[in-house]
Amino acid sequence: MSLRKELTEFCHKVYEKGFVSAYDGNLSCRIDAKRILITPSGKCKGEIIENDLLEIDYEGNLLYGEGKVSTEAKIHLLAYNKRSDINSVFHCHPIYSTAFAAIGESLSRPIFPEVVIALGKVPLCKYGTPSTNEVTDSILPYIDYSWALLLENHGAVTFGKTIKGAYFRMEKLEHAAHTIYIARTLGREKAIPLNKLKQLYAIAEDVYNVKIDERNRMD
Ligand SMILES: [Zn+2]
Repeated sequence: MSLRKELTEFCHKVYEKGFVSAYDGNLSCRIDAKRILITPSGKCKGEIIENDLLEIDYEGNLLYGEGKVSTEAKIHLLAYNKRSDINSVFHCHPIYSTAFAAIGESLSRPIFPEVVIALGKVPLCKYGTPSTNEVTDSILPYIDYSWALLLENHGAVTFGKTIKGAYFRMEKLEHAAHTIYIARTLGREKAIPLNKLKQLYAIAEDVYNVKIDERNRMD
């Protein structure tokens, strides 16, 4: 499947899932060393067609396509320019994750083993005025090692080695935030005990086949 087709399908998926409303959010993937494929500004993700996607360079200049480059493309460029292991970036406003971002709470406590492994810490990036460099400045402290971020009073960002990988992190993040929300209506969520967390990290490489950056660990 072409990247253009795949990214378009995931645009529809994030809209159907309610991860974005109206014109919110932006999705992108690396094409090659010179080009990035990204959603245009001012288009609903639920209505995007393959031809709407723009090709931009690593400085954000439009190379090919009809639409306008979003001011949030800066978030994507930062990720691609800083990390060679990131090939896709999703920025959405999923309700439960964004609710945590709105109360100024990160999702960096070890509650679910799968989340500890797949997302690691999900730090809260300080609020920045949309379209300014404040947004990318707030991401900068975490960009070298994070796979998922909350943007204060704004939304969430996830990274992937593939488009599907970035999508699954967004889905997993929202699922975890939703579950923690429900848990709090019943009581208070309990963190995985430290010794069990260490045990989880010890087997992570064998069982889950992932290498976890020291800075992303919760123990
Ligand atoms: Zn946004």
